[in-house]
Formats: sequence, C-alpha cells, structure tokens
Amino acid sequence: MARILIVEDNPDNMKLFRALLTLKGHEVTALPSGDGLQEALVQHRPDLVLMDIQLPGKDGFALLAEIRASPHAALRVVALTAHAMTGDRDKARAAGFDDYITKPIDIASFPDQVARALAGELNDTREPG
Ligand code: MN
Repeated sequence: MARILIVEDNPDNMKLFRALLTLKGHEVTALPSGDGLQEALVQHRPDLVLMDIQLPGKDGFALLAEIRASPHAALRVVALTAHAMTGDRDKARAAGFDDYITKPIDIASFPDQVARALAGELNDTREPG
C-alpha cells in the first residue's frame, strides 16, 4: 500500500486510475490541476505522484519544476503522457520525471507499472525512442 497523488484533468481518466489503484490497496488523492499541489504534498505526503502533462493552467513540466525546487524535491514523479505525443516521453525524461506512463493506459498492466515506479524501476524500457 502506498499513498499516490494523481494530477489529471480528465475526469474519466481520473476515475479509472483511482479505481485501479484503490483496488490494489493504495490511498489515492486526486487533483484536477496544479492548484493546491504544494498543500496536497504537505497534507498527504504521497510516496508517488502521477502527473498529467497537459493540464489547465500550469502544465506537468511546470509543476514538476516546482516540486523539484521545493522541500519535496526528492519525490518520485511519473509523467502521464499522451500516446500520440511521442516527443513527450523524451521531454519527460529530460525534464527530470522519474518515469512516464503512456495514455491511454493498458488496464491490465497499469497497476504493475505503478508498482515498478514505486519500487524505483523504469517502465517501458523495451520501447525504442
Ligand atoms: Mn490532461
């Protein structure tokens, strides 16, 4: 069981992520944008953040930069990247995300991807580019 903070503006995605991770016994906190992110980090002390890239207001890159410049700098943060945006993966790694998970997610493997992220193992290493 881990505490996981999800920042995702798509309600259907959020519902799915929350359901899958709750089913695995994780404690999920949901934010639809970066508003209140720092407060949520203090209040919920997540073990892992799943961060959508495309968000209303500040995007995932800007929010990651804020985390890395904060007392929570060492937090494990995984980008949620849109499948069509292939360049996002490289940008995510270069920006300092610990890992990325491609959307739409594969429901069967998503919990394992999150488990590996929690364990500090990299996902999707078999995919070129
Ligand atoms: Mn989004």
